Amino acid sequence: MPLLLVTAVVSRLVTDRQDIVHATTALADQAMALTDLAVLRTRVFEERRQYETVAQSASLGLSPDAVSSLIGMEVVADPGPARAATDAALAAVPPADRPFPPGVLRSLRADIDASSVSLEDVSTRFSALESGTVASLDGAISALSDRAVEIGDVRLERAVDAMADSVAVASQRGHQIQSLAALWFLGGDSIVPAMADLAQTAELYRRTATRLSSSSVVPVAEAWRTNQATGADFDAAIAVELGGRLGEAPRDPADLRALGRVLGSGLRHYEQLSALPEIAATAVSDRAVARGDEARAQAERATAAAVASVVFALAAALWFGRSIARPLRTLTEQIRRVGDGDLALEPLPLTGPPEIRVASAAFNDVAANLGLLEQKALALAEADFARPAVDAPLPGRLGDALSASMHVLSSSILERQQLQERLQHQATHDALTGLANRRSAIETLTAALARSSRSGDPIALSFLDLDDFKATNDSSGHSVGDQLLQVVAERMVAAARQGDLVARFGGDEFVLIAERVGGAADAMALVRRVLDSISLPITLDGRQHHIRASAGVVLSQPSDDAMTLLAKADQAVYRSKRRAPSAVELYDETLQQALRHHSEVEAALKAMLAAGGQELELEYQPILDATTGEVQSLEALVRWNRPGEGQIRPDRFIPIAEESDLISELDRWVLQAATRQLAAWSVHHEFRRVSVSVNISGRHVTDPSFVENVLSALAQSSVDAHRLVLEITETALVSDFPSAAAQIDAVRALGVQVAVDDFGTGHTGLAHVRTMTVDEIKIDQTFTAELPEVTELVRLVMDLGRHLGVRTVAEGVETAEQAEVLRALGCGLLQGYLFCPALPPKALLHWMQGRSLAGLPSGPPAVTTRG
Ligand code: C2E
Ligand code: CA
Ligand code: CA
Repeated sequence: MPLLLVTAVVSRLVTDRQDIVHATTALADQAMALTDLAVLRTRVFEERRQYETVAQSASLGLSPDAVSSLIGMEVVADPGPARAATDAALAAVPPADRPFPPGVLRSLRADIDASSVSLEDVSTRFSALESGTVASLDGAISALSDRAVEIGDVRLERAVDAMADSVAVASQRGHQIQSLAALWFLGGDSIVPAMADLAQTAELYRRTATRLSSSSVVPVAEAWRTNQATGADFDAAIAVELGGRLGEAPRDPADLRALGRVLGSGLRHYEQLSALPEIAATAVSDRAVARGDEARAQAERATAAAVASVVFALAAALWFGRSIARPLRTLTEQIRRVGDGDLALEPLPLTGPPEIRVASAAFNDVAANLGLLEQKALALAEADFARPAVDAPLPGRLGDALSASMHVLSSSILERQQLQERLQHQATHDALTGLANRRSAIETLTAALARSSRSGDPIALSFLDLDDFKATNDSSGHSVGDQLLQVVAERMVAAARQGDLVARFGGDEFVLIAERVGGAADAMALVRRVLDSISLPITLDGRQHHIRASAGVVLSQPSDDAMTLLAKADQAVYRSKRRAPSAVELYDETLQQALRHHSEVEAALKAMLAAGGQELELEYQPILDATTGEVQSLEALVRWNRPGEGQIRPDRFIPIAEESDLISELDRWVLQAATRQLAAWSVHHEFRRVSVSVNISGRHVTDPSFVENVLSALAQSSVDAHRLVLEITETALVSDFPSAAAQIDAVRALGVQVAVDDFGTGHTGLAHVRTMTVDEIKIDQTFTAELPEVTELVRLVMDLGRHLGVRTVAEGVETAEQAEVLRALGCGLLQGYLFCPALPPKALLHWMQGRSLAGLPSGPPAVTTRG
């Protein structure tokens, strides 16, 4: 549509300019044609003037030469040259434009040559030719002026005006000359109309002259000024003639000469003026051509502009499509997506015209800000203030408000998170060492057990307990104790593997949870490494401390839960602590069964003793004089008739009783029962010189109640102190010697005898025995069993006993050979199945009475046939 408009406008413009080009071309041609008419007019005037001058001169009786001198111009008698000039001028005018046909001129000349017409008729006929020419000129000038106005060019119009004036001014001058000539040659009746004519044309001439002198058409104005002097003379002469001689005909020679000069100057001026139309026509033509060129150039420019604008329009359409329509389409698309809530947009490219670029950039900003807003909202919703979007600035009031509220919110949430983390840490960590605490260790263990049940790899749980830490804490102070615990914690973490958990369980108890350990040996090695690192000296404030720890290790079973596993590790560490310092004990099921049995027995024993020991009974085994065979003493050996279990041998409950004060209870019961039995038996003569031997545990010897228990047994049975033998094991006597020695001295002071039981098993060394103040040494039955191989060793014991003045007893004598060797070595007393097993009181009474009846003070009893 705009393209059509542009094309229409341009084609109209081009047409207009082409019209102007045509018009100006025509105008230039017309102007030149007009010049030809002007020349024809001049030639007609001159031909007439030549004829009239010759004719008028003749009428005045003057020769042409005389007239020539009078008017100052040559007057030629022959009309030929003037006629030829007119013919040439008429031929120059195209036939259609000719003001008169050539025939008219030819007939006039023929009439003149034939002298058939009067001078007056000839002048009239020439005057008609002249008027026709001037009329043609006027018509031509009028057409020219119309065309100039039509073209609309001011300068062209002025040139045409100047042209019209140039043509007119010559006519006016010619008219004046004719009038003046009439005055001069004719006089009489011609004077008055000639004078009127002269006055009228003088006024017309004056106006035309004024226009020409101020004409803007430079060549015309210049030509006009050049003729000004001649014109001025003529005008002055006319004024004089008009003023002074009006109404009179000049007849004297002086007047004629003056009039001739005036006429001459008029003719000269006319001659000059007759050149003006051509100059003006040239100016008109030049201007018309210039205007035509301008119009042509304008048309060409317009055409070029039209082509350019069409090209431009096409290019613009194309550009619009690419630069505006496409980005606008993309922009619209993106806006729709944003409207649908899709903010994951690629930024729009910043291409196209500025408005589109600005719109795209603005949209990009809006989309980016919306995206940022979305991210901020998400961060807010999830309370995740570490995201970069949180700190990214969002322009505008919404952004300011959002970032302010997010700041407040994030700092308060952050504070709460930090507080929660602190509380969480406090809840799961030990404040002193920074290790995981009991609760956290149990949680970790539970999780590890769950993993272990899936993978099948057992977990190694170790319980570590510092040895004698309470003593260190008490002696060095709690602050040092705390520092030691911190060092120990650090060392444990350093010695453990990456991924193992070290936790503080309580005061000086720690736990090590290790996953993916190869087996028991690897787990033990790991714990050993931890214990070794702990046991390196610790220097605090210049003082060296030696901390050691014991450990119990357990490998998880699929059925274990955390608490079961912890209990097992605890049992293992309990056992390791009893075994040796800085030991590692591995928990195993058989051991645990024994332990369970142990504690079960202990509990039952404790209850039974508390109830008076009714399930206990004593058997007695005689100790005989090796030489005479006399029964020297009866060793009381305890049995436990446990309901549902039958008779239990002392080996199965004495060691358990020895681990607690129960042993003292038990020993006291045996002391009382045995002394009471001896007192009861004393009614029989066989028993009058017999003693009772009671086994006393080493632990009981060091018990403050020991002496009291012995005294009370003697007192309640009224048995003589020297009839009581206390058998105390070598190990017990040595392990706490000073305290044991004092107690032993105390009971010996009462008259009670003391025997070293199980001699040779305690690794004491014979030298140690010298320091013991005892009455008897009982060689352990393992030596007896190995006789005669250990004869020399037994001999040494016998020598020692003799040297110290102490009795020697051999127990476990089962064969006559053993008895023989022992007798030979000088052993004073013998005990064993060879003579008699341990028998219940009734059986022993029978055995004693049977021997007595058989008159056997010594030798094997009848019942020993089973050995
Ligand atoms: P013991 O003091 O060495 O007691 C001797 C043990 O050897 C007894 O075992 C006895 O039955 C056994 N015996 C005696 N002759 C022979 C023999 O020819 N061959 C063999 N193989 N064994 C023989 P029993 O009665 O089982 O006592 C075991 C241990 O229990 C005793 O060793 C003693 O240390 C402890 N014991 C027994 N009764 C008491 C008690 O009333 N109080 C304390 N404190 N300990 C007791
Ligand atoms: Ca014994
Ligand atoms: Ca023994």
